[in-house]
Amino acid sequence: MQFTPPLARLIEHFQKLPGIGPKSAQRMAFHVLKMNMQDVGEFAFALVDCKEKVRNCSQCYHLSALDPCEICTNDRRDLSTICVVADPRDVIALERTREYRGLYHVLTGLISPLEGKGPDELTIRDLLGRVQKLGVKEVILAINPTIEGDATVLYVQGILKSLPVSITRIAFGLPVGSDLEYADDITLSRSLAGRREV
Ligand code: ZN
Repeated sequence: MQFTPPLARLIEHFQKLPGIGPKSAQRMAFHVLKMNMQDVGEFAFALVDCKEKVRNCSQCYHLSALDPCEICTNDRRDLSTICVVADPRDVIALERTREYRGLYHVLTGLISPLEGKGPDELTIRDLLGRVQKLGVKEVILAINPTIEGDATVLYVQGILKSLPVSITRIAFGLPVGSDLEYADDITLSRSLAGRREV
């Protein structure tokens, strides 16, 4: 017994989402059928609206509907510090701690020789440009201690070596390989406070 085509199509789309198996996809599709038309309309609109409006900031590469983003244009941020992260979700995690007042730079990934991802596919060149232009005094590397993370840290260090900037890496009181975005606020605050020169 097959699902009728529109329902099958919806299930198929849900199943493409990360972490969603066939059973969950079916449950979600059946839930949509029970929702009222207005909620379904708003849901569909939110998908398209988000996709249309949200972009990487042309300066820091964080995700925002504004360009430059809210952080880059906030004149109360400390321009002398840039915190380098792999993913926009790491910016959200660090902002949640309310400890950090500097700028960010999102690399949009990590160097991964196994996946064939080299430094040119990341935003490392732009980071160099920003450090020079803004006269940044400290670059904080908030990069997970994985093989890819360590390779990326080494590369960024090399690129920034000739500049008069102090390079620190946040201290992970976290198990190796754990994700920054899942760290609780207190652990993350401590990691930030305990950053060390690399
Ligand atoms: Zn920005």
